[in-house]
Amino acid sequence: MRQYIILCFLAFIAFSSCNNNKQTENSAFADTSFNAFKDRFMDEYWKTNPSSAIFIGYGKYYDTLKIPDSAAFAGDVAFAKNYIDSLHSFDYTGLSDNNKIDYKILENQFLSTVWYIDTFKLQHWDPSGYNIGGECYEIISRNYAPLNERLKTLSKHLQHADAYYSAAMQMIKQPTKEHTELAIKQNEGSLGVFDASLMDSVKASTLTQPEKDTLQAHIALTTAAIKNYVAWLQKLLADKNQQFRSFRIGEELFNQKYKYDLVTDNSAKYLFDKAVEAKNNYHNESYKLANALWAKYCGAQPKPADSLVLIKTVIDKISLHHASPEHLLDTAKKQVHDLEHFIIANDLFNYDTTAPLQVRIMPAFAAGVTLASASQTPVYSKRETTYYNVEDLTKVPAAQAESALREYNNYTLQILSIHEAMPGHCLQGVYSSNKSPDIIQAVFGNGATVEGWAVYVERMMLDNGWSNNSPEMWLMFYKWALRECCNVIVDYGIHCLNYSKEDVVKLLKNEAFQEDAQIEEKYHRATVSQVQLCSYFSGATDIMALREKYKQQEGSAYTLKGFHEKFLSYGSAPVKFISELMLKK
Ligand code: ZN
Ligand code: ZN
Repeated sequence: MRQYIILCFLAFIAFSSCNNNKQTENSAFADTSFNAFKDRFMDEYWKTNPSSAIFIGYGKYYDTLKIPDSAAFAGDVAFAKNYIDSLHSFDYTGLSDNNKIDYKILENQFLSTVWYIDTFKLQHWDPSGYNIGGECYEIISRNYAPLNERLKTLSKHLQHADAYYSAAMQMIKQPTKEHTELAIKQNEGSLGVFDASLMDSVKASTLTQPEKDTLQAHIALTTAAIKNYVAWLQKLLADKNQQFRSFRIGEELFNQKYKYDLVTDNSAKYLFDKAVEAKNNYHNESYKLANALWAKYCGAQPKPADSLVLIKTVIDKISLHHASPEHLLDTAKKQVHDLEHFIIANDLFNYDTTAPLQVRIMPAFAAGVTLASASQTPVYSKRETTYYNVEDLTKVPAAQAESALREYNNYTLQILSIHEAMPGHCLQGVYSSNKSPDIIQAVFGNGATVEGWAVYVERMMLDNGWSNNSPEMWLMFYKWALRECCNVIVDYGIHCLNYSKEDVVKLLKNEAFQEDAQIEEKYHRATVSQVQLCSYFSGATDIMALREKYKQQEGSAYTLKGFHEKFLSYGSAPVKFISELMLKK
């Protein structure tokens, strides 16, 4: 009897463990072969896209310059189609969660490559897509190898620059005026990469004389090719008979691009309606706050009849409270420190406060574009310091500094620090570089997830008591949030609803309280980009919707920290794919 029981028990163990083994072996096999597929694909991808490999710091193929002729574009389509087939040979259901996400990201990536070339045909109408300045700058300035080696790489990279720009001129069929102007400006800027300082480092290098001669000949060939391209584009612009394509891409293409770029189940029209609704809601809330703050900031001055004018008047008064140019960096540093303490004290994240995050003056090469930014650890390197860069306003003319400081006053500077650093971009960067790095997710990270996260945390922090519900803080938050929803209204409005420049100016000036320079910049950005301006609001909307569903699913087990930790563990994958894994069927 006793023996029987033991036997039975053993048999059961043997059976169950065998069964288990078989299962894990199967999925382990699926994942092993999928991982091998990813590695193979990534290297092939960089080989076919050497310029992207340079930007990402991959370390191979830097000396190759791909000539952008029609054969190259046809090759890219074939490459993507081929990989769609390989991808579909894998059993999706047998993959780990991480690989499931990679599968979906790659599928979207391949389909979108085919769409960009065959349907959107960007290569025919955007001359700014042809520019080798940026990658050359990377080759020279990144310290990935000794100077001599970098210069030799540069020399090889440049040897066919003339063929590169000839192919570009062949590819351009009917450009938009706006992208032609952009291409001229940016290629003229690229000439700066090959200026006297490069010649000095060539002279100072220990290359042999023949190597120096070859490099200098290649640089001369390149600058001539760029100048020739610029002159050709200028001639196009001056030609009265040249037919330019409209920069408005129209509803159909916009919807398709929206789907590929943002990866969301919602339609562009849905997001537009949501944005209009949010705008009206922010106006109502702002009016209540501004009305209550009127006496404090405007004294006995009579209240304007127009509610939007009243809001704007109070916002302008509050904006006068700002840091001095000398104290901007210290103010930002203190904010990040306080924000770190706040998220720990309020149990919002399991944040590792020893993670290297530095607040620093904006490096020169990035200066002059925006007041602040976040620099992430490059994809192909291990955990490095994450930077929150702040512009040095002591170096700009006083009037310009004053205008920037009113825009980023005592209140909005806090929102900026939340967005860029804590717990926005920098914190997200720390999480994604701490987790076992998934190259697919890092390389093809979704812009709507990244920006959506930074936008999501702005409100989340205020909702959780950052700044103690100060009415000034909330009013300035609504102004800030109006920019995000108006980005959607402007983008969709221009491309799908035929908004004129006047429509955009009226909207941003009267309803989003923006300054002329900002409005001009936004309008220009919306004419040379499509969909990107929707990514902030779209990502945040999707994250909020996911949080609601996750909260219902988890019931009493739900915590905000739990949601944040789980969400961030998926890196920068599209929110749609993260949702599929976080929400049980
Ligand atoms: Zn001032
Ligand atoms: Zn951002």
